[in-house]
Amino acid sequence: MAKALFGDYKNDLSVALQAVRLASRATATVQKSLKKSEIETKDDRSPVTIADYAAQAIIIKHLSEHLGNATKFVAEEETSSLRERKNSGLLEEIVEIVEEVSGPSTQREVLEMIDLGNHDASAEKFWTLDPIDGTKGFIRGQQYAISLGLIEEGQVVLGVLGCPNLPLDQNRPFDAGDDEGGLYFAVKEAGSWSIRPDDEISKKSKISISSRTHASECLPCESVESSHSKLDFSGRIFRSMTVSQPPCRLDSQCKYAVVARGQADIYLRIPTDHNYQEKIWDHAAGALVASEAGAKVTDIRGKPLNFHYGKTLRENEGIACAIPAIHSELLRAISNTL
Ligand code: AMP
Ligand code: MG
Repeated sequence: MAKALFGDYKNDLSVALQAVRLASRATATVQKSLKKSEIETKDDRSPVTIADYAAQAIIIKHLSEHLGNATKFVAEEETSSLRERKNSGLLEEIVEIVEEVSGPSTQREVLEMIDLGNHDASAEKFWTLDPIDGTKGFIRGQQYAISLGLIEEGQVVLGVLGCPNLPLDQNRPFDAGDDEGGLYFAVKEAGSWSIRPDDEISKKSKISISSRTHASECLPCESVESSHSKLDFSGRIFRSMTVSQPPCRLDSQCKYAVVARGQADIYLRIPTDHNYQEKIWDHAAGALVASEAGAKVTDIRGKPLNFHYGKTLRENEGIACAIPAIHSELLRAISNTL
């Protein structure tokens, strides 16, 4: 049955799920004991940890081994700072994390795997990876996602999100801290699914958006970081739609997952800086998981997300993801407010 359902992507999906499963396990262990000295600041002043690098190496290694050496990756991290002598201790720690889940590795191999993520996104078919989306949440001990998407001719055809801190049980608090979380995945035109991290694919459960119909009953979600989305504007937009519940704030593409599983109804991301272009790895997998579950995913002007332009969504502005029943109302409220 699974073969017919996921068609030509059956093998890609099972390899991608296993890769994200391994990386989720590794990052969850690191998060519990992360030290300040294991966090660096990148040139754009954003943080990166030993877990970001290790997860990127684990996933690229697994996919290259199982899908072939010609597999192409567009991933967030690169190794220039790791190659500096002052960071050799960090590199050793990264190799240890990789070895724990992927078997024996050398420093050279780990650096090589991370740098395989440097493809320029010009290929017809490539994987895009954010090894830890929401690094700030990861450092705070809160939400983050391992995000892996497959793009073919500018279309996202497969997406897997590892959400190690998001309990599958929706009645549990987001940051329970004692839960194994879950994996969410989607294949174009084959629906969205969730699964316990260690379960076989046959144990998957279909997920779908809520059946709410009025904005007043809807639960919105948005970033924790006010530098990533204009939270004061979204507050005004939600009030103008008479949304009564306060937005839930969580880091990473877990926001797409909570909409996809029918818990929240809106994920709004309003640009804080007109020059910022959203990165494809911050949206590919999540947007597919949400849209295959029934959500409508556009930018804040109503344009579909356009993955034809390399590493960024340069033709788009922010994100407006919502259940179809209120998506046009959301776009109207945005245009009246901004
Ligand atoms: P979130 O957890 O939803 O706040 O989003 C995390 C992602 O925001 C990171 O992976 C970054 O790539 C991205 N990001 C960094 N700077 C900005 C910015 N100025 N505007 C929007 N997103 C950003
Ligand atoms: Mg990210």
